[in-house]
Amino acid sequence: MMFGAMLKSYYAQKEGIDPKDIVVVSVMPCVAKKYEISRPEFEVDGLRDVDYVITTREFAAMVKFASINFNFLPDEEFDAPFAHANSGSGVIFGVTGGVMEAAIRTVAEKLIGHELDSVEFRQARGPKGSKEISVNAGEITVKGLVVSGVGNAKEVLEVIKQNKGVSKYHFIEIMGCPGGCIMGGGQPIYDSVVREHVDVFKLRSQVLYKADEAAPIRKSHENPDVKALYEDFLVEPNSHKAHKYLHTSYASKGRFGKMK
Ligand code: SF4
Repeated sequence: MMFGAMLKSYYAQKEGIDPKDIVVVSVMPCVAKKYEISRPEFEVDGLRDVDYVITTREFAAMVKFASINFNFLPDEEFDAPFAHANSGSGVIFGVTGGVMEAAIRTVAEKLIGHELDSVEFRQARGPKGSKEISVNAGEITVKGLVVSGVGNAKEVLEVIKQNKGVSKYHFIEIMGCPGGCIMGGGQPIYDSVVREHVDVFKLRSQVLYKADEAAPIRKSHENPDVKALYEDFLVEPNSHKAHKYLHTSYASKGRFGKMK
């Protein structure tokens, strides 16, 4: 969603395009996003952040239907102004704990005031539905909680509610699907034979962690595109503009939220 908002604002301004003429199509591992894009919380100035969502499974079916063999396609750079979309921190967003690990890389380094010895925070990794992470960063111990699966999320939210919104954690990451987006409902389906012999979570998460290891940029705050975005458009983290385009809040829609 945030990416769509940036395309219809930052990119549109940079390229002199009327944002109304931009159609954003997101390829997602998530069936829920098809509904989510219609929520008013994902609109800025009357424009939807994302216009269409196709799942990775639908995308794979289209690729097959068109007889395109990805193995024979040459690698290409991503388009500007987000050519560094594959920073290590960006890549691991797909797995439970990935958003936490990416955030800790930046937060810990900013608090310590010098480069981290290691950017890998393994407490945040693995398939467990609930994981605590605690990182000493100078005078502060940063505490986080990583949760995946709706049942686990409900439990955590109940505890926070009972504590009147107070939590001992600085940051809580919640992903709806057990294991995170790599196990999302829009991902390619595997049959019971594969399920029996292959640890799909392990396989998919290893792919992301390997891509992170190999990435020339592993921290979000070192991504030149992110830096340029703040310098040229958002001004600084937490600015009014950053809130307008990147943050949102939710109001309950009841069990069957109305689609626009
Ligand atoms: S964790 Fe699941 S529900 Fe949440 S965004 Fe990823 S695929 Fe969608």
